[in-house]
Amino acid sequence: MRRIYLDHSATTGVRKEVLDEMLPYFSEVYGNGSSQHSFGRDAMKAIDEARRKVAKAINAKPNEIYFTSGGTESDNWAIKGAIYANLERGKHIITSAIEHPAVMDSIKFLEKELGIEVTYLKVDGEGIISLEELERAIRPDTVLISVMAANNEMGAIEPIEEIGRIARARGIYFHTDAVQAIGAVDIDVEKMNIDMLSLSAHKFYGPKGVGVLYRRNGIRVKKFMNGGEQERNQRASTLNTSGIVGLGKAIELASENIDKNNEYLASLRDSFVEKLISRVDNIRFNGPKDMTKRLANNANFSFEFIEGESLLLRLDLDGIAVSSGSACSSAALEASYVLLATGVPIDIAHGSIRFSFGLENTMEDVDYTVDKVEKIVGDLRAMSPLFKRIDGGEFNV
Ligand code: PLP
Repeated sequence: MRRIYLDHSATTGVRKEVLDEMLPYFSEVYGNGSSQHSFGRDAMKAIDEARRKVAKAINAKPNEIYFTSGGTESDNWAIKGAIYANLERGKHIITSAIEHPAVMDSIKFLEKELGIEVTYLKVDGEGIISLEELERAIRPDTVLISVMAANNEMGAIEPIEEIGRIARARGIYFHTDAVQAIGAVDIDVEKMNIDMLSLSAHKFYGPKGVGVLYRRNGIRVKKFMNGGEQERNQRASTLNTSGIVGLGKAIELASENIDKNNEYLASLRDSFVEKLISRVDNIRFNGPKDMTKRLANNANFSFEFIEGESLLLRLDLDGIAVSSGSACSSAALEASYVLLATGVPIDIAHGSIRFSFGLENTMEDVDYTVDKVEKIVGDLRAMSPLFKRIDGGEFNV
């Protein structure tokens, strides 16, 4: 059976060039990067090379790059670490209503544990925050602004350069979760006044379980992992040499090819969106309609009168992998809080699917998927009593 993977926002496969660079670091160069002998030095040399590649990709300094176990750890460390280290400065955080659970739950933890006060910025119908609302939300005791660079469900790209300018002018730390943005949006931490940034290798064709927290020098952040003195005594645990080497290669490839990759992905996505809208009725394209404000690989649709889960399972039977809501929360059959925040009605939000394209997809994959979605949506609606009544005119006044 043909299998088509359209869930690249959940994770990507490791690219061959990345894997080839990683392989020697499993059983040839296996020293502990912290050891003082040549085995350790060889590992540390490769780690530092990867550190330089990450720094170059986001215009940071190598000693501002801290390797972690992924996006979730980086988000937790940035948010909790900044608040715990700056309690005397205040107890107020500003964030958006559509953050990933790694940010949302870190903030909720602080609300509960420390009585931190939080302003959740609303988003407009396309998922973008308002800079005026951000300005109004700032208080004398605001310590941190954490707003994602791009949303994982409907691909909205947030105005992080403007947010950075506002935060810097008011002396407030600015953290951005750039897990979905790396390789898709040009990030320059200097130009954008970003103080902390989270990224994760598996979203840009690198390995799982390895990420980075960028921390501007001079920013006060409490140590999160206690133990050894790795990462300039800021993040304990033996460094994941092969993973870090893979992350370095993957971010180098992603940032060198950003325009070319975006152009290719957008051609697939745009063709998909156009074909689906022309062939399937009663659907809603969620997130930014202005494609320059949206990740090039993301298409999110709500299909009225059907459950997203039913569509997902039927597509899976046909070999097509998509997601309903974010992968992390898709086990819970709740309507997506991200789509609800953009004003999608709850019953329609339930029928939503994210299609996220990747570099190995082709135009044939697009056409095959459109055919299957059209057929399955037709079948599911034919079984839906609500759709029949509306289709038959009963509610159609
Ligand atoms: N932040 C965003 C926006 C994400 O999309 C994800 C993963 O889905 C994460 C954080 C968590 O990253 P990781 O899987 O590396 O822990």
